[in-house]
This record gives sequence, C-alpha cells and structure tokens, in this order.
Amino acid sequence: MSIDRRRAEFADPALEARFLQHVLPERNAQLKASMLFSAAFFVAFGVTDIATLGPTFTAWVLVGLRVAVALGALCACAALALYPDSVPLSVRATCCVLVVGLAVFLVVCWHQPAAMTWNLMSLALILMAVYIVFPNRFVYAVAIGCGASLAFAAMLLVEGALTPEDLVSLLLLLGLGNGLGYIAARRLQLAQREQFRSTMLLQELADRDPLTGCLNRRVLQDGLLDKELARARRYGSALSVILCDIDHFKRINDTHGHAAGDRVLCAFAALLRTMTRETVDSVIRYGGEEFLVVLPQTELAGAQALAERIREAFARATCPLPGGARVCATASFGVACAPARHQHPPAGFEALLGGADDELYAVKRGGRNGVRGRIVAAAPAPQRSSA
Ligand code: GH3
Ligand code: MG
Ligand code: MG
Repeated sequence: MSIDRRRAEFADPALEARFLQHVLPERNAQLKASMLFSAAFFVAFGVTDIATLGPTFTAWVLVGLRVAVALGALCACAALALYPDSVPLSVRATCCVLVVGLAVFLVVCWHQPAAMTWNLMSLALILMAVYIVFPNRFVYAVAIGCGASLAFAAMLLVEGALTPEDLVSLLLLLGLGNGLGYIAARRLQLAQREQFRSTMLLQELADRDPLTGCLNRRVLQDGLLDKELARARRYGSALSVILCDIDHFKRINDTHGHAAGDRVLCAFAALLRTMTRETVDSVIRYGGEEFLVVLPQTELAGAQALAERIREAFARATCPLPGGARVCATASFGVACAPARHQHPPAGFEALLGGADDELYAVKRGGRNGVRGRIVAAAPAPQRSSA
C-alpha cells in the first residue's frame, strides 16, 4: 500500500483505482459546487470587460465566451449527475472545464492590456482553484497550473505593455501562486490517501483472524452470506458452503501442546485458501477449529468434489513441529448448496449453514474424515385446497 509521493498517488494502479472509486461521490459533489461557483463568478466578471472596453463588439464577444464556458460547466455537472460512477468522466470534466476556462481567460486578458495587472492577480487566485478547489489528479493540476502560467508569461512578454518592474513582480506572483498551490495540493492528496490507507488497514484488522489470516465471523454479521445469496438469486446462479472441522483437535493440543495445535490450524487454513479461488470464494474462521468456505456459482457436485480434494490433501499432509516431530490430522466436511434457478430457494443463509452443520455432524457420527452434502431449499408453500 505504498504511496508514490512524487505523483501523490498510490504506487499500485489497482489500489489507486479503488481509492478514486471510494472518494468519487464526495469528489463529484465538490466538483459540481466548484464548477457552479466558478462559472457564476466567471460570467459576473464580464462586467469588467464592458467597463474596460466599453459596449463594443469585442466586449460582447468576450462576455459571450464567458457565458459559453459557464454553459460548458453546467453540461459537465449534468454529465456528472448522469454518470455518477465514472471516475474517468469526473477527471476529464475537471480538466476540460479548467483548460477551456483558462484559454478563454487568456483571450480576455489579451484584449485588455490596460487591465493586465488586475487580470494577473485574478489568475493567481484562479491558480488556487486549479490546485485545491477543483478535485483532480495531482499531476494534471500541476500541468494545467504551470501551463496556464507559462502561456500568460509568454503573452505578457509579447504584448510588452508592462514596465520591467511590473513584469518581474507579476511573474514572481505567478511563481508564488504555483508554488503554494503545488505544496497545498500535494499535502491534501497525500493526506487523503494516508487516511484511506489507515481505514483499509483497520478494516483488514477488524475482518481478519490474526492467527490464520482467514476472514473472521464478523464478515457474516456484516452480511457476507446474505449478499452472496441475494447475488445468486439475482443472477440465477448456485451458491454452496462447506463447513469443515478438524477431527480430534483437542487430542492434538493435549498431546503436542497449544503451539502445535496452532500450527495445524494455520496449515489447514493455508490449504483452504490455496485450494479456493482467491477473489471469488471466502474462507472464514467460523469457530476454534471450524472453518466456513463460501463458494459462489458452485453447484453441489463441484463443492463436494472440492471438499473431497481438500480432505485428501489434509489427510496426506504432515505438519512439522518445532522439535522435529510431525503431526498428522484429518478433517470432516459438511456441504450445503442452494442450486441455480431452484423453484424454492432457501429463505436465508441460516438455512444453508444449518444444512452444512447437519451434514458435518453426520460425518462426525459416521467416523469422521469424510464429506457429505445436501441441497437446501425452502419448503414449498402449502397448496390451497379449492372448494
Ligand atoms: P471433533 O473431532 O468432534 O471435532 O473433536 P475435537 O477435539 O476436534 O473438538 P472439540 O470441540 O472437543 O475441541 C476443539 C478444541 O479446539 C478445543 C479448543 O481448546 C481448541 N481450540 C480452539 N481454538 C484454538 C486455537 O486457536 N488454538 C489451539 N491450539 N486450539 C484451539
Ligand atoms: Mg473438531
Ligand atoms: Mg469444533
């Protein structure tokens, strides 16, 4: 989760994309407010065009350009409201409005050499908006801020309307605007990412069991199985769960000590995690030596076959202990499945867990080290008898 401090972004593009998606609603709200506020002021400053140039054709064209920029900002707000989940749209809308607005501002300044001092002071304030008020990628804000400043500096030199002293003061003012904007924007972008990183770490600590690294039961309370069941219903796909329990685990603790028991637990958890799909399945430490594996888009036969493969692998493996001894263990597995497009899907995840639990205890009663499974469905609604 390292942050590239030069670009003020997460070094990992996938994490950066996750961060941007996370902050998008707040960022879009800020962006819309900034656009409406800036557009109103941009048009209002048209009064100064008329005041400086008089009610001439050029002055009205400049006012027209200002109104066009404001309308563009309104269109960008409408696009943000239409596609609130698009990060690229949000970034492009910011860049387009800023680049077009600054280009028009440059044209306005070009036609008002007498008001150049005032216009350059306005630019220093606009630079603050570019860096801080409009949410943007840090590198884009720097490119737009510096690009606009260079274009204005070039215009000042070409027009030659200012005394050398004023020219130096104004160029220094632009440099100061960019420098302060750079420092403030970088600090803001880094602080946002550091806060996101802390939140993610806290979430990870809250959701993961420290011994095995598996998810803990909290994720079930947070609705993981409810969400999976709802998703399976929405897409008409199957959902299976495997409840696993290490056999005679107390004996391992009693014979070899708790540290050895912990090693066996970790070995079993590692096996479960390596034999399941990383981003699709979930492995949850359900209790002391009990684990729950959630398998979306998996029918009963597939889930039972997976449980059988895990059972075999665990029974074959031996877990090395610190003194050089090795310990063998077995586990029992109860599988329950809500099949795809079943006429009577289970009412809730408790029914799935209950089914898996019943199967697990049937395996325990039958001698352990085995797999059993069942389909779980809601009882069909009682038929109404016709009179
Ligand atoms: P069965 O085959 O019927 O499941 O028997 P069992 O001995 O595995 O089950 P039992 O419920 O009797 O014992 C489970 C033991 O797991 C008791 C508890 O002390 C131990 N245990 C629970 N959590 C941990 C842990 O984090 N580390 C260790 N080392 N032991 C644990
Ligand atoms: Mg056990
Ligand atoms: Mg148990």
